[in-house]
Amino acid sequence: MRITEKMKSLKEYIPNVDDCKIKLDANENPFPMDEDIKKEVLSAVEKCGLSRYPDPMSKDVCESYAKVMEVKESQVVAGCGSDELINIITGFFMDKGDRVLTFEPDFSFYAFYSFLHELDIISVPKEQGVAFDADFVIKSIERFDPKMVLFSNPCNPTGGAIKSEQVKKILESTQAMVVLDEAYMEFFGDSLVPDINEYENLIILRTMSKAYGFAGGRVGFAVAREEIIREIKKAKSPFNLTKLSQAAACAILKHADKYKAQVDALTVLTRETYARLKEIEKKHPGKVTVFESSANFIYIKCARSQEIFEKLRDMSILIRAYPDGHLRVSTGLKEENDAFLDAFDAILKETGL
Ligand code: PMP
Repeated sequence: MRITEKMKSLKEYIPNVDDCKIKLDANENPFPMDEDIKKEVLSAVEKCGLSRYPDPMSKDVCESYAKVMEVKESQVVAGCGSDELINIITGFFMDKGDRVLTFEPDFSFYAFYSFLHELDIISVPKEQGVAFDADFVIKSIERFDPKMVLFSNPCNPTGGAIKSEQVKKILESTQAMVVLDEAYMEFFGDSLVPDINEYENLIILRTMSKAYGFAGGRVGFAVAREEIIREIKKAKSPFNLTKLSQAAACAILKHADKYKAQVDALTVLTRETYARLKEIEKKHPGKVTVFESSANFIYIKCARSQEIFEKLRDMSILIRAYPDGHLRVSTGLKEENDAFLDAFDAILKETGL
């Protein structure tokens, strides 16, 4: 095998695979699938005819999602998770060596795919480690003059969010393509989807992996003006969504209202977790900092974070640890959140922060 320069410099990405009883590491929807929806999913899957290739354009899925988003079907393309769409967009809308702007911390896969496509990646650290607003983005764009800007709103992992009016200021300040990742937008409710026609430089990414509880199905979407969607369709792999995931996704999307109720319940649970974490923060001044969240997870700065992550894992509670001393905990079911909070509190006491 010829070893390329890229192979030499890329470290393997190993997602959490621990078999913990309580899984609060990946921002998934913790509720089991509604029994009626499950019946419809199973019946749709049963009928889908697996000896034939799937619809390459996932037309029914795009139509269903377009209906939920109140846009035209031609303004939506489906991907095998929004991950696939990030790959296509960084690959096809950019030439080798073009400059791409990302921020740190943010979803790491913007830089990962940009690296694979040999782009010139600028990753600007957020002010005070988390603070992020339109002026900061606009200043960074002016300074670095990128061809593409990618960021998540609400942000994974910080949970911070910026209002749509502010995002519009960013879009209006630049000709660069802005890839606005709204993977967690159901929890914040201030999407730019209604405004897609206004912007020639906007691609919005959405996913069924979070609010819709379908992470295992791998279905994500790009929503943008028709001419942009046509280009993405040109570059995607022909049969990117299986018949199984198309059938299941259509059945799920018929019940968007039921998922809205789950989003509301998760938002209440996130607030409760935040309130308890703030009490814990008070007990450890300067050692624990808890950040407000507009999504279904909470970001925590914490002394000895890796040790705490490992102790929780030993108790079969899996959260996410970052090498820079932060933790991120997803909102789970009430009893899962309580188990995490009790364990976190006890570990902090025991480690004597
Ligand atoms: N964007 C963000 C901000 C995410 O957090 C994630 C998943 N963690 C994704 C995109 C990818 O989602 P999908 O499952 O649709 O590939």
